[in-house]
Amino acid sequence: MPSYSVALLAPRDPASGSGWQRILDQEGVPHHLATSAADLPGSALLLGEGELPEWAAEHIRAGGVGVLSGARALPDHEPGLAQRVRAVISGFTTPGGRWAAAPGPVTLLPRGTHPARPGAGSFRVHEDRVPKYDSDPDVLPVLATHGIGRGTLLYSPVALTELLMAEGDRLRRFSELSLVTERVSAIDKADVADTLLALLRAGFRRAGLPLVRLGRYPGGAPSVLIVRVDVDGAFAPRTQMLLDATTAADLPASFFVNADLCRAHPGLPEEWPAAVEVGQHADVHTAFDTVDENLRNLRAGAAWVEERTGRTVRSFVAPRGLWNPALGTALRTLGYPYSSDFGLDFDSLPFRDSSGLLQVPVHPYSPERARRWADETGEAPLGAAETAAYYEAVARRQIALGRPVHIYGHPEVLGQMAGVVVPALAALARAAGLAVRTLGEYAAFWQRREQMRLAAAYDDATGVLELKTAAGERDGVTIVVEPSATTSKVVLDGTAYPVVPGRELVLEGTR
Ligand SMILES: [Zn+2]
Repeated sequence: MPSYSVALLAPRDPASGSGWQRILDQEGVPHHLATSAADLPGSALLLGEGELPEWAAEHIRAGGVGVLSGARALPDHEPGLAQRVRAVISGFTTPGGRWAAAPGPVTLLPRGTHPARPGAGSFRVHEDRVPKYDSDPDVLPVLATHGIGRGTLLYSPVALTELLMAEGDRLRRFSELSLVTERVSAIDKADVADTLLALLRAGFRRAGLPLVRLGRYPGGAPSVLIVRVDVDGAFAPRTQMLLDATTAADLPASFFVNADLCRAHPGLPEEWPAAVEVGQHADVHTAFDTVDENLRNLRAGAAWVEERTGRTVRSFVAPRGLWNPALGTALRTLGYPYSSDFGLDFDSLPFRDSSGLLQVPVHPYSPERARRWADETGEAPLGAAETAAYYEAVARRQIALGRPVHIYGHPEVLGQMAGVVVPALAALARAAGLAVRTLGEYAAFWQRREQMRLAAAYDDATGVLELKTAAGERDGVTIVVEPSATTSKVVLDGTAYPVVPGRELVLEGTR
């Protein structure tokens, strides 16, 4: 039986990392790195960025399927249409119909090679214009198809993989559900990641192969609820109010305590229930340029929080959502398992940042920032019921998009709303069947999931997909198979499961 694995073409610039690597890791799709034609036999699909090397183009001409992000040139296009014009865009409409901020250059490939079709997404060379005389020129698809030889190349002119890996944040709106602004990643990476997954899915469909991936949430739940409090000042009794409300709602929360702001606004709870995660949020409330300065800030933060709470502190989220490689390296040096920095990414699935640290992105709205924004703009501040309704709307959207529900706030304002907001979130989690976890618990689940080594083989003739995991590996991690039209049966570790065409098959691990 032929092996089943996605061939990832090594990125041209290894220092920039590969956005495809992040997607494959995020989804848990079996894959291998390809640096020459010798790595290609038996590959389900080829994934590349920019331009294809000739040996990869040759593989596609012979009947293969390739997927290219940020296409700068296409093999075998018609002579005479070889112009390669660059344009700068501020964003695009995803195949799912969402607007994604994605500033940067795109290559405008020969027009005849990318006819627009439904579900392909779009971008405009001339942005923010109204069609006149029935003409709306230069609206181009985000996902396009190009036949070469007996094979197919699916491609995007938008440099999706590069956008996913780029740093840079600014003050802006971050959600279609709110006018509030925050200093967040300049790129809507959750939407960029979804677009890359759509491109990958289209590749599997074209190749006639089932897509195998790992479930995103413990026990196959539709999403996870993580409630997080950044304790930027205890503001007694408001931290206690949040602690009491989450305990009463049986909703284990994560509290990250900043030393400096708690010295200014004291009154931390005397006792912390065992189910509650207590982490630190630095000594002084910022990030620094050097590893040494960040180390000093982290060590002092941990010591202060440990002394005040009596808990061992080994987790951290970044003040002000600020992230840089020096902070990542400092956290890795101290053995911290994860961070969560909305200046780098928000609303997305967990991923490894360039320092190798696990990032667990949050939704960047806080009632405290919303209060300040209302003061600045003259808008009326949101009350407790409106804040609960906003979080619920965010949760419903995240669930619908298959993303985590990771929300946060502070004692200063959210503390006063705890009695309204927390029960509403707990009720929503029960009704929607969400897995409720602390940030640390979900990060630990994700690390177990990362350890899974899924071996797969697919027989084109019989449509049988065979999957193998190592013994004891599937603790709460599910395996998801999206069958192709010809997939007849899935065999996981020797047990056979029938396939219903067009329906996702979720195989549960032991809990
Ligand atoms: Zn903070």
